[in-house]
Amino acid sequence: MSYVEELLRDAFGRWAGREAVVYGGGRLTYGELGRHIAVLAAALAHGTGAVGVLARNRPEALVVHLACHLAGRPVAHVARDASRPVQRTFLRDASASELCHDPNEAPTARSLAAEVPGLTPRPLALVPPPPGVDPPAAPPPAPASRVRTLLCTGGTTGVPKGVAHTHALFAQPVPEPGALATPGERCLVFTDMSHLSWYFAMPTLTAGGTLVLHEGFDAGAFLRLVPGERITRVVLSPPQLAKVLDHPECAGADLSGLRLLAYGAAPSTPHRLHQATERFGPVLQQVYGLTETGVVSVLTPEDHLYGDAAVRASVGRPVPGVSIEVRDAEGAPLPDGESGEVWVRGPALMAGYLGPEHANEQAVHDGWLRTGDLGRLGGDGYLTLEGRCKELLIHHATGTHVYPRLIEEALLGHPAVREAAVWAVPDERHGGDHVHAAVTLTEDAPGAHALRAHVATVLHQDHMVPEHVEVLTDMPLTRAGKIDKPALAGRRGRGSEGR
Ligand code: AMP
Repeated sequence: MSYVEELLRDAFGRWAGREAVVYGGGRLTYGELGRHIAVLAAALAHGTGAVGVLARNRPEALVVHLACHLAGRPVAHVARDASRPVQRTFLRDASASELCHDPNEAPTARSLAAEVPGLTPRPLALVPPPPGVDPPAAPPPAPASRVRTLLCTGGTTGVPKGVAHTHALFAQPVPEPGALATPGERCLVFTDMSHLSWYFAMPTLTAGGTLVLHEGFDAGAFLRLVPGERITRVVLSPPQLAKVLDHPECAGADLSGLRLLAYGAAPSTPHRLHQATERFGPVLQQVYGLTETGVVSVLTPEDHLYGDAAVRASVGRPVPGVSIEVRDAEGAPLPDGESGEVWVRGPALMAGYLGPEHANEQAVHDGWLRTGDLGRLGGDGYLTLEGRCKELLIHHATGTHVYPRLIEEALLGHPAVREAAVWAVPDERHGGDHVHAAVTLTEDAPGAHALRAHVATVLHQDHMVPEHVEVLTDMPLTRAGKIDKPALAGRRGRGSEGR
């Protein structure tokens, strides 16, 4: 039985009256969710090819996802914030024949369907399913391929790529307390199903708990919904966690029902984690993972409370079944403590990238995936990340290698800096890169000059001092809640505060 068949058996049986999904427009019991899935799966079973999904974080997306898996068709979640060419390529490479969309996405769905040969839009609205729908009697059709879920990488350091996963993505063992999803669990979800972090919510559903879906992140909504909807678990990105901590109502909100606050998908800072531990107590769990790998490692609540500074600066230890190695540029494993590229092997590794342009790209070697992340392993198995290999910039004047992460950490060490991002601006004429930065600040705002002086004092390297520091009131975030560096690079020159 697949995880969906098991879910439906329980939805039509012992959980029928229990609340499964809460969303802006209403609530669905497991019985209602099950009937929606059964009706749609019956319709989808007649088609071939993958089913695209273009939807906000709404129950429609969940219904299509589960109906596809029941009907044996791959489901391709389109990233709503990706560029139109990326969305088009993703659907084409996925061989999608239908594009299911929620009512809000109708114009985009229509224009994508006009651009991708053989793609038909299918509007979805949650109308009450006909009475008397029974659990699907016949077994689902034999799967045409093992590929089941298609996602797109975030593209924060390159062009987003389509990633094909098998059902192993849902069978991955998750360490305690992630595995302890119970029927009483109520999980708050902010991201769309097109991002891996959404799948953190699936164990809550398969355990008979309740998903509370919110369209897009909002710190105020978080502080209202946790007590209002009796939320027990949530996943945030570090910038989102920082926004919650900075919210004026955070100190007074009743967040005592939270049993697990998972965060990840982007780097965190010791200062923020200290603040979060003080505010939330022993519920923090950091997750490191890639769209290509599923969950790789976890820093547990105990690590947050009892770990030394090195442990708290790490992304934790591999989850069961996952192995991590740090290797040199030739792929040879490095001893503990040495920095190199992080390679990962595990049960939830992707089946491959989508599309002819990636056909020859050997991302997986003998079952190991090159993550493109730089890191080092401690003797105790804790992994510390140091940046992205691809983010390495070559300084235009000195030719020196510079890792933006180091400069970001130096900026974040200034007491007035809330968020910081550093990126390369290529020097078209002379080659090499210029170092640019953007920050958001507390009210006590130092000027760009003071921030540059601070970086020079901390790092003692002139070439690491950003040439421009742009002061923003808000950092642009991607759909996964990461700082959107391509967007920052795109706005260069507009209102920047230089040296
Ligand atoms: P994506 O697949 O687009 O979500 O991006 C995966 C990348 O996000 C990884 O390769 C890391 O660079 C970054 N990432 C994910 N989790 C963490 C974490 N806990 N800490 C720091 N970076 C992370």
